[in-house]
Amino acid sequence: MILPSLRIKWISDDIGYGLFATEFIPKGTVTYAFDPLEIVLPRKILEQEKEPMRSMIDKYSYEDNSGNLIICWDLGKFMNHCCYSNTLTTGYVFGIAINDIQPGEEVTDDYRIFTRQHGFQPSCEKFVCPVFSQSQEQVEEWDGRIKDALKHFAEVPQPLKPLIPAKMLKAVEAYLRDPAKYVSVGTQLPKANPSASNKKRVSAEPSKRKKVSIKRSTLRSTRKKRKA
Ligand SMILES: [Zn+2]
Repeated sequence: MILPSLRIKWISDDIGYGLFATEFIPKGTVTYAFDPLEIVLPRKILEQEKEPMRSMIDKYSYEDNSGNLIICWDLGKFMNHCCYSNTLTTGYVFGIAINDIQPGEEVTDDYRIFTRQHGFQPSCEKFVCPVFSQSQEQVEEWDGRIKDALKHFAEVPQPLKPLIPAKMLKAVEAYLRDPAKYVSVGTQLPKANPSASNKKRVSAEPSKRKKVSIKRSTLRSTRKKRKA
């Protein structure tokens, strides 16, 4: 579920719909949290379904750690990508505002975290898109912004907090007490191929993955460029 105060608005034929803040959203606000109504589909459905369903599922879904496709049941699926987004998905699975967001401002997310390529330029048209990268350097940049936002987690209103699993809240509290316990968004990067990269990911962050077993199905389901 996305922050209920967000509203959908038509932007252009090129971009389609986007989501906009109706009120001030302070940095550190959780803007998306997984909820039980998200639609979870087996990935093989893409091969089984005929058009136009196949394209719609492909457009509005993302793949989780188990190889499932997740579709956000609410307006979350209309959130656009921006390489300079004002929210980011975190290693704690929820999305968070990394800047103060003013009323009327479009709320965006960085889908580079969820994909293996940059295919989202239209949403970034007022900026120059960086070269697509999921390098350690890029992950550290994302982590820096997320850490900065998480510092405000306990100070700002959190309408979506009831949806955050208790173990995830504990993990955030652990980070706030001890920065060494931060869980990197690098734990959420897509697999190069489902079986091989799973091993790679586990070996990259073994302790963190044991501490907080985070399923991709709890991630924002709006990782693709939305054209309405
Ligand atoms: Zn871009």
